[in-house]
Amino acid sequence: MIDVSELFSCTRCGFCCHGETTVSLDREDQLRMLAALDMNEDDVREQYWRISEKTVQMKTVDGHCIFYRDGCAVHSGRPHRCAQWPLHPSILDDENNFNIISESCPGIKKEIGYERFCKILSRSLSENALLPKLFRIVKK
Ligand code: SF4
Ligand code: SF4
Repeated sequence: MIDVSELFSCTRCGFCCHGETTVSLDREDQLRMLAALDMNEDDVREQYWRISEKTVQMKTVDGHCIFYRDGCAVHSGRPHRCAQWPLHPSILDDENNFNIISESCPGIKKEIGYERFCKILSRSLSENALLPKLFRIVKK
């Protein structure tokens, strides 16, 4: 079984939850978040989402995602892109992506080297074992 802690261990630095924009939520993300918050959609739209013509994002407060409170306050309902971070499949395409993501996320175990990292990541993705594991380990 693949152990993704070989690739990544979250330091809870909060970097990925900071900024003036957030990831976009697709409909699946929206429904997951509504269920986790146990709120009706109108209230969530009003309180937590920033909605434009084409995208739904989370609002930001003081330069971070509205759900960031020294960790993710909507952990079980967070968007899939948050759950996937930082082990993004684009790492497999290009070492530059690996370098850029490693610079953003101190949890990446860059020291194992790009080739080994890709080997483990690729195996994890192909075994479809990554997402369930990430739901448990990222920003608990
Ligand atoms: S996932 Fe990476 S950037 Fe985000 S809080 Fe954890 S260590 Fe920091
Ligand atoms: S939903 Fe959670 S993990 Fe995603 S940006 Fe907001 S606080 Fe961070």
